Amino acid sequence: MSWDLKEALLHASRQVQSARDQLSDLDAALGDGDHGTSMARSFAAVEQQLTAMEGNEPADLLELVGNTVLNAVGGAMGPLFGSAFLSSGVALRNSDPALSSAERTAAAIAAAADAIQRRGKAAVGDKTMVDAIVPAAEAAAAAAKEADASSATVLRAAAEAAAAGTERTKELVARIGRASRLGERTLGHQDPGATSVTLVLESLAASAG
Ligand code: ADP
Ligand code: MG
Ligand code: MG
Repeated sequence: MSWDLKEALLHASRQVQSARDQLSDLDAALGDGDHGTSMARSFAAVEQQLTAMEGNEPADLLELVGNTVLNAVGGAMGPLFGSAFLSSGVALRNSDPALSSAERTAAAIAAAADAIQRRGKAAVGDKTMVDAIVPAAEAAAAAAKEADASSATVLRAAAEAAAAGTERTKELVARIGRASRLGERTLGHQDPGATSVTLVLESLAASAG
């Protein structure tokens, strides 16, 4: 990867912390109103750990983020975001060195989508972060096949697809997680977890230049 992933992850961590109130407001309409607090607390710990870290190896960085989020303990988002980052790190570590950086970035995003689905057992349409990360992974895979593909073009395609998927959660009735208890009353509200996934991808894409 030719760009500075540590700087990109630090930028994403700060963006998540800045979005704390917006994310908690979304969760107040659908759940218990703590999503922003949990995200901000987890990513404050991520910022601290990344700042203290000496190395710059992409797989190590993503695994550090994953383990830090897993250890920070924060509601449903903890194991979902934690395993997503951890799995993307493992995917990078195991990826064929002959692949382009665009292909490796797409593989990392695909691994994050798989991890969230494995952990949470939600499907597309259930009104969760799956509705952001699955279209993001599909768009990333398609973008990686373009002639002028780079990590930046892949991340940008992923972020755009995640944003569109997050917008679509407004039209969905929650079928899993805390929000599912509200049934039809979830219509019209945007899913907080999908919003967070989009924010992270947009922050990484912005740093990738
Ligand atoms: P909690 O519901 O424990 O308070 P958060 O508020 O941190 O957790 O996170 C809520 C978000 O978690 C939801 O907006 C949704 O996107 C996501 N979520 C909840 N359950 C699942 C699941 N089983 N699979 C995927 N995402 C889920
Ligand atoms: Mg909550
Ligand atoms: Mg909670």
